[in-house]
Amino acid sequence: MRDMKLRIIVDQDEVLAQFVNKVLKRWNGINGTNFVRSQVNMWRMEHVLGVDTMGRSAEGLIDEWLAEDKFFEDLEPMEDAVWGFNELRKMGHDVVVATSIPEVAVHSYTGKRRWMRKHFPDFSMKNFIAVSRKGLLKGNYLIDDGSHNITDWLEAGHIGAMIFDAPWNQDIENKKWSPITCQRVRSWTDIVNFFGELRVEQNRGWDRMMKSANFLIDHRG
Ligand SMILES: [Mg+2]
Repeated sequence: MRDMKLRIIVDQDEVLAQFVNKVLKRWNGINGTNFVRSQVNMWRMEHVLGVDTMGRSAEGLIDEWLAEDKFFEDLEPMEDAVWGFNELRKMGHDVVVATSIPEVAVHSYTGKRRWMRKHFPDFSMKNFIAVSRKGLLKGNYLIDDGSHNITDWLEAGHIGAMIFDAPWNQDIENKKWSPITCQRVRSWTDIVNFFGELRVEQNRGWDRMMKSANFLIDHRG
């Protein structure tokens, strides 16, 4: 049996690494607030947070944090992300990480690479790409929490997309993508199950093909 090798492009922040929780923890620590991730219902989380007790905008503060040398290095992995990411690689897929580098924090590139090395020591950094426009990439599936990334990817003519469920991406269903083209995944288990079933289906297809090939050979005369 042969397994189909797919190129699966995985976003880093909020698919592999918990970015939002670190920002909220700091914000709450400074301001005595209790913001939780489920309240972040828009992509620009600074609009949810507003201004701090000193009247400073969340946007300015977050930009400062992101510019810190080590901000991205010690993010916690998303639930089951280490397991799930490794499962996709074990299935033999060409798994690529594509992450956007914030304009305000160009050296976060280094921190994000270090994060990958720490959690996936045997992952080839040849498969690590810094890119803001995910539609420029080539592959079979994009897994991302950003509606705009999924849109850019699908508008570029790609077919497979997975929106990684988050409070800030609930709007994508209002857009034009069918659930087949763009499916919502709620966990790494969803992702692993999908690609596992795809493999079973593909092997069934392969079996059928071999059977009909044998049938043709047997009946050639
Ligand atoms: Mg992301």
